[in-house]
Amino acid sequence: MKITSAYASTIPISSSIRNAFIDFSKMDCTILALVSDVIVDGKPVVGYGFNSNGRYNATAIMKDRFLPRLLGAEPDSLLAEDGQISPAKAWQLLMRNEKPGGHGERSVAVGVIDMALHDLAAKIAGVPLYRWISDNYGDGDPDEDVFVYAAGGYYVPGKSIGDLQDEMRVFLDAGYDVVKMKIGGADLAEDITRIEAVIDVLGGDGSRLAVDVNGKFDLTTALEYGKAIEPYGLFWYEEVGDPLDYALNATLSEHYAPPIATGENLFSVHDARNLLRYGGMRPDRDYIQVDPTLAYGLTEYRRVQDELARHGWSSRRCVPHGGHQFSLHIAAALKLGGNESYPGEFQPTGGFADDAVISNSRIAPGDRLGIGLEGKAEFYRLLRGLHS
Ligand SMILES: [Mg+2]
Repeated sequence: MKITSAYASTIPISSSIRNAFIDFSKMDCTILALVSDVIVDGKPVVGYGFNSNGRYNATAIMKDRFLPRLLGAEPDSLLAEDGQISPAKAWQLLMRNEKPGGHGERSVAVGVIDMALHDLAAKIAGVPLYRWISDNYGDGDPDEDVFVYAAGGYYVPGKSIGDLQDEMRVFLDAGYDVVKMKIGGADLAEDITRIEAVIDVLGGDGSRLAVDVNGKFDLTTALEYGKAIEPYGLFWYEEVGDPLDYALNATLSEHYAPPIATGENLFSVHDARNLLRYGGMRPDRDYIQVDPTLAYGLTEYRRVQDELARHGWSSRRCVPHGGHQFSLHIAAALKLGGNESYPGEFQPTGGFADDAVISNSRIAPGDRLGIGLEGKAEFYRLLRGLHS
């Protein structure tokens, strides 16, 4: 088989929400279609990719540098011994002549292509992606469903405490048990009021609430907030300082006993290794949130998993960032601890299939072939438009 053509474009996923660091009014996303020469029911099999949610597009670098390498490759060089597409071999080709370090937007561009290659591989094999991953990279016995939590609680102009509580009630009514809100975009007193208001909605149970700083705090503020929120026993305290400030994270972990989560802005196995070496992360309670799509794809994410295992971590401590269907399949197949979900945000790319059901904060990846983005009607319309 071979890839006959590739189509990439940028779509807006903008909204009026804001976290402690950025607003999302100009947010967009790269989408990609890889068309193969494999014909099923009279149509070529097509793999789709997109660059997760919440970081800007990488369309230019993908078109200028990485897609030419993919399309210019000898077709056989992309194939495994069984003659089928090998995302891992394709990854080596994509990264040829790339220096180490400085991952930047490069990891996003490669991640999108890697996602589309995995979608294609599973579709050609005639199976949902979680099954393909489990059979090829896992133990062949994937989880049936995956823990998901509802990420929201953004800062929005004019949003009141009552609005915030209503938002959380909608998440609970939709089947989520655990919710997440942004902090650090207001002062400590106001954030404590917001946190306590959400805990009220959760029946007083702080262990069902995660808070996310989006990398905003310096060490002093991290510790000050940590001291104030520690009594609530929150689900986790997320990305408290700059993603590469491992010493800040390590110091925080000496002072803040409940779970800490971070990693969504670490884009390589090397960065993840440094987090494990120097970030003070505790394998008995903390969470790693590396997003496979932003960080060179599933091919690199498997290396992250190997690194975690070498450091004594269970895959169950991983809950990827991004709230997308690709990570949902990965979580089921590699037996992760869960996956993020953004109900209603970052449309049309965010979230899972239109017919997906969330119950007790769990969701199944579904039985559509590949990633199953065809089950997100509005998004699929855009993806199909790339090539037809
Ligand atoms: Mg986050």
